Amino acid sequence: MPGPWRTRQFAELNRDLAEIVGDKTAAALAGLRVRSAGDLLRLVPRRYLSGTETSDLSELVEGEDVAIVAKVHDTRMAGQEPRRRLEVVLTDDRTTITATFFGRERYISSWSRQLTRGARAIFVGRVGSFGGHPQLAHPDFVLVDEFGTITGHRARTHRAMADQVSRDGLIGLYPATAKLPTWNVAETVELVLDHVGRLGDPLPEWVRSSRGLVDEDAAYHGVHRPATRREASAGLDRLRFDEALALQLVMARRRQRSAGDAAPRLTGTPGGILDQFDDRLPFRLTDGQQEVCDEILDELAQPHPMRRLLQGEVGSGKTVVAVRAMLRAIDSGRQAALVAPTEVLASQHYGAIRTLLGDLGDGQVLGAPEGATEVVLLTGSLGAAAATAVREAIASGRAGLVIGTHALFSASVRFADLGLVIVDEQHRFGVRQRASLGRRPDGSSAHQLVMTATPIPRSIAMTAFGDLATSTLTEIPAGRSDVQTTVVEIAAHPGWLERAWERIREEVAAGRQAFIVCPRIDPGDPLPADGAADDGAADDGSTGVDAAPMASAIETYERLSSGPLHGLRVGLLHGRLPADEKDAVMSAFASGRIDVVVATTVIEVGVDVPNASVMVVLDADRFGVSQLHQLRGRIGRGEHPGLCLLVTSSTSDTALSRLVAVAETRDGFRLAELDLLQRREGNVLGSAQAGTKSSLRLVRVIEDAGLIADAREVAERLVRDDPDERHDLLADLVTQTERQGEEAAAGEWLERT
Ligand code: ADP
Ligand code: MG
Repeated sequence: MPGPWRTRQFAELNRDLAEIVGDKTAAALAGLRVRSAGDLLRLVPRRYLSGTETSDLSELVEGEDVAIVAKVHDTRMAGQEPRRRLEVVLTDDRTTITATFFGRERYISSWSRQLTRGARAIFVGRVGSFGGHPQLAHPDFVLVDEFGTITGHRARTHRAMADQVSRDGLIGLYPATAKLPTWNVAETVELVLDHVGRLGDPLPEWVRSSRGLVDEDAAYHGVHRPATRREASAGLDRLRFDEALALQLVMARRRQRSAGDAAPRLTGTPGGILDQFDDRLPFRLTDGQQEVCDEILDELAQPHPMRRLLQGEVGSGKTVVAVRAMLRAIDSGRQAALVAPTEVLASQHYGAIRTLLGDLGDGQVLGAPEGATEVVLLTGSLGAAAATAVREAIASGRAGLVIGTHALFSASVRFADLGLVIVDEQHRFGVRQRASLGRRPDGSSAHQLVMTATPIPRSIAMTAFGDLATSTLTEIPAGRSDVQTTVVEIAAHPGWLERAWERIREEVAAGRQAFIVCPRIDPGDPLPADGAADDGAADDGSTGVDAAPMASAIETYERLSSGPLHGLRVGLLHGRLPADEKDAVMSAFASGRIDVVVATTVIEVGVDVPNASVMVVLDADRFGVSQLHQLRGRIGRGEHPGLCLLVTSSTSDTALSRLVAVAETRDGFRLAELDLLQRREGNVLGSAQAGTKSSLRLVRVIEDAGLIADAREVAERLVRDDPDERHDLLADLVTQTERQGEEAAAGEWLERT
C-alpha cells in the first residue's frame, strides 16, 4: 500500500475517497473538507432524528435540508394534467406545512394511498417556500408507526434512508451541501463503513477503560448507525477524544524531539553587556519580569533549545525581558534575532531597543563600552546596497542583535552564529514554520522565545502553541492609566459622531493625541484593511445588516482634515504606504508633531505613544473582539486616562453585544474566549469559509478545555511509555495529524487576530 502508513487501518482511512465512491461524490464531499475515507467517517451527524418523536414544524427554516417526523393532516390533488400534483398537509398538532409531490399518475396515486389522513412519516427534503409559506417540495419519506418502526416508503425513496430507519429508527442528519443532501452523505458513509471493514484500535486498553471510552469500531458504528442516542453519544465522545489526543500526541512528539536537539549553551559573562544594561536600567523589573527572566536565562544555559511562549498584555513589559535574553546570547558570543510581523513594528523595536541600550548598542567603535554590540535592522524595503551591508554585518557576526521582519529568514541571510530567535506578536507563524526557525548549519537549533500580547486561553495554548512552554506576565508596570470605553451607536444617536470629533479637539487642545482607526484602506477595497479584520466580525452573521460601506482610512483622513478636524495636524498611516513614509508618520506622531493619526490596524500591536489618550474606532463592529482589545491597548499608556470610542452604525444584536463586551471588560483572556466562541458560532450560522483549514472537527477549543488537558496528559504518558515510536497505530495517528496540518482552529484564530 503506498503512502507513509505502517498499518492497514490508516492506509484504509487515508485512502482517497474518489477510489471508493467515485469522482463526482468525492468532489461534492471536498466541499465539506472531506477527502479521505477517514475524513468521511469523522463527519458526524449534526443531530439525530427518531421516528418516535414529532418535529416542531414552526422551526423550519427556508433553504435547509430537514428530516421531520409529522402526521398527515389532509391530502388533495391540485393542478391540471400533465402537471398534476399531490399536496399533503402535514401537522405537528400545532403548525402545518404543505409537502408537494410531482410525478406520473400511478406514482401519485400510490403516494396518496400511503399518505392517508393520520399516517405518520419521516420526511426528508429541502424547505422551500410557496406563496410566502414554507413548503417541502417532493420530499422522500418513510412511514413509521408510533414505535418508530418503518411500515412503508415512497416508491423511489433513497434506500440508505429507508435502511437507516428500518434498522434502528434513528436518522443522522449530516452537514450537507446543495449538491449533496444529507441522505446522500448517509449513503456514502454506509458505503465507506462497509468498505473499510473492521479497524484495529490505536488506543491502548488502559486509556479506554480509565476514560470509559468505546473502541474505535464501536465509535464509528455508534455515530453513523446508532441504535440508541446513547450509542451515538458514546461514539462521539470517543472520536472527540481521538481528535484531541492526536493533536496532543503531535505536540508531545515535537517536544520530545526538540528536547533531544542540541543548542548552544548561553551561559553569559559576568560584567558583560547584560550586567551593564541592568546597571543602567531606569526602572526596577517587576517581580513577574524578574521571575520570567530567571526562567529564561536558566533555560538558555541548557544544551537543548528553549521553546517558550511569553504572553503578557500590551504594556506588561515584554520588551525588556526580550532584550535581556538577547544580551545573554551576545555575552555568550552568539547572535540574537528579533522578528516582528510588520515593518512598522520592526523599526519601532529597533528604535526602542537602540534607546534602551544607549551606547551599548553602538558597536565596537572607538570609545564604545566594552562588550557593546552592533544593532541592525533588516526589512524587505531596505535599499539593495543598505541590505547588502546589513547582511554582511550579520554574516560576519559584527551585528550581535538583529531586528527585522520575516525577511530575516530568506535564504540570502546567513547568521555567523545565531543563538536565540525571538518572535514578537507572532501569531502569524504556525507550529510548523516555528519549528524551522533558527536551524543552525550544524543541525542544532537556536533557542526560541515567542512573545504575544494576545491573551491565549489555556486550551489554545495547549493546541496552537502546544510545542511551547508558557510564561505569563500578569502585572502591568506602574504608570498605567485607565481607559474608559464607550460604544457609540450612530444609528440611534447620529449626533454622537460629531461629539466624538469634538472630544478629539478637546484632548488635542489639552496637549494629548488621538488615533482614529478604520477597517480598510481605501473606499475601493472590498476587504478590510491589511487583511486583519476579516474575522469574527464578518462571520457572525451580521453582514446582511452591515451592508453600509465601511469607513476607509484614506477617505476618513481627507474628510476629517478638511472638516471636523480642520486645523489639527492629522496624519495617515496604513499598510500600503511605503515603509519610509510609514516610519515618518509614526515618528512624527511619537514625537508629537502630529496630533491625530488616521490609521488601519497597522497600529494594532506594539505601538507605544504614551501621550495618546483618545482612540476612535470607526465601524468597530468590523473588528474582532480581541482585535479591539489590542487596539485599545494603544492608549492609556502614559499618565493620562484614555478614552476609547467604538463607533458603529450596526443595529445587529450580535454586533452590539460584542462591542458592549469589549466596553465592559479589560480582561483580555475573557475577551479572547468570547472571540473564539463567537467565531465558531459564525461557522455554525453557515459561513463555511471560516476555519476551513483547521484540522479540528469535533473538539471545540473553549468548551472542551478539560478534554484537551486530559488528552495532553495521556499523550505525555504515551510518548514516555513508547519513546521509540514502536506503537504502529499511534505512530500512524501522529503522521496523519501532521499531514492534515496541525494548525488547530485555535491557530487559525490566532493567525487572524
Ligand atoms: P509590551 O511589549 O509588553 O507591550 P513594553 O515592553 O513595550 O510592553 O513596555 C511598555 C512600557 O513600560 C515601556 O515604555 C517600558 O519601558 C515600560 N516598562 C517596562 N518594564 C517596566 C518596569 N518594570 N517598570 C516601569 N516601566 C516599565
Ligand atoms: Mg511590545
